Amino acid sequence: MKVLVINCGSSSLKYQVIDSDTEAVLAKGLCERIGIDGVLTYQKTGSDKIKIEAPMPAHKEAVSLVLNQLMDPETGVIKSIDEIEAVGHRMVHGGEKFACSTLLTQEVLDTVASVNDLAPLHNPPTLVGVAACKELMPTTPMVGVFDTAFHQTMPAASYIYGIPYEYYEKYALRRYGFHGTSHKFVAKRTAEILGKNPEDINVIVCHLGNGSSISAVKGGKCVDTSMGLTPLEGLIMGTRSGDIDPTIIQFIANKEGLTLDETMNVINKKSGVLGISGVSSDFRDLGDAAKAGNERAQIALDAFAHRVVKYVGAYAAVMGGVDAIVFTAGIGENDIGTRASIASRFAYLGAEFDAEANNIRGEEAFISTPDSKVKLMVVPTNEELAICRDTVEIVTDLMAK
Ligand code: ADP
Repeated sequence: MKVLVINCGSSSLKYQVIDSDTEAVLAKGLCERIGIDGVLTYQKTGSDKIKIEAPMPAHKEAVSLVLNQLMDPETGVIKSIDEIEAVGHRMVHGGEKFACSTLLTQEVLDTVASVNDLAPLHNPPTLVGVAACKELMPTTPMVGVFDTAFHQTMPAASYIYGIPYEYYEKYALRRYGFHGTSHKFVAKRTAEILGKNPEDINVIVCHLGNGSSISAVKGGKCVDTSMGLTPLEGLIMGTRSGDIDPTIIQFIANKEGLTLDETMNVINKKSGVLGISGVSSDFRDLGDAAKAGNERAQIALDAFAHRVVKYVGAYAAVMGGVDAIVFTAGIGENDIGTRASIASRFAYLGAEFDAEANNIRGEEAFISTPDSKVKLMVVPTNEELAICRDTVEIVTDLMAK
């Protein structure tokens, strides 16, 4: 089955066509500057990347351009739209309504829209993307895969904030967690690599990318995760602060004469390792700057690692022990130095770091010594493939009915 996987932002749309039988990516690309002017990037696997400037006043035009490109007689990968048998959409926030992926019926879309308050920046664009696809492919089944779904197994003790309970009752204000598709994929793959039943192991997944989060996966189920109501909580990220004393918001607003929205913009977009270093949000730049003697870049890297180490310790405690600590996403898979500065600090848990084995990028590997009681691992994430798999499972069930 050929599956189109779509990840829609407010002005961008990432896509991949995956053949689910072989799990090979046939083509992938990105629409950018939707609603501004429009740039389409397209790459058929094995061929050169193509960049086309084309007007994209809205997401519908972007999806239409993607479909045309996929059907291009020379560079395309399908002959007609019907060859796409299903579309899998990355959905950000499902609130408490979705604990697993689901067929996007109108009723489901209305339910997603009803939790828009919880993710005002992220949910509306995904709904616009789904509507655009539905219009252009009215008979093709669409599946929604939620970033929050995997974390719905968290117990109340993990998801409740220490604030009046009525806000949870009235507004569903609680911790949700994000990157769930990645945490689920990586935790499952970790069990496979270890040759264990997921139910028999405790895994800590460190998804360290531009946005970063950690989850505690006990017996295959998420019991805690570092992001909260929004993806702002938890680790220090590229530009997001992660955990801070809430009073800081009021303090900055007062001192700098900023509105609440302006202050939140600072916390979301000008903080994290970018804010600390004043150099960059990208760990490659930070590594280079620190090597060249930039002290603030070094503090940013150290603070990032410190926070990860702290969460790993907390989650080992929450689960009463851990069998594998796993690194994934841009930094987790590729930043050898940052990974070393984190993974070398878990000897107290029984995880013996192997510096030589750590000398790898972007591949599955053990980075602990062969006889380490607790395993340290790198397991590359693949959210698109995870979305494709869920989509196929749901659509196959549907066809069997
Ligand atoms: P996103 O959250 O946008 O999906 P990614 O998971 O792709 O982010 O991670 C992007 C980040 O990964 C970059 O900002 C960069 O900090 C880091 N990164 C990618 N490649 C490397 C590398 N070779 N060395 C160090 N850091 C890297």
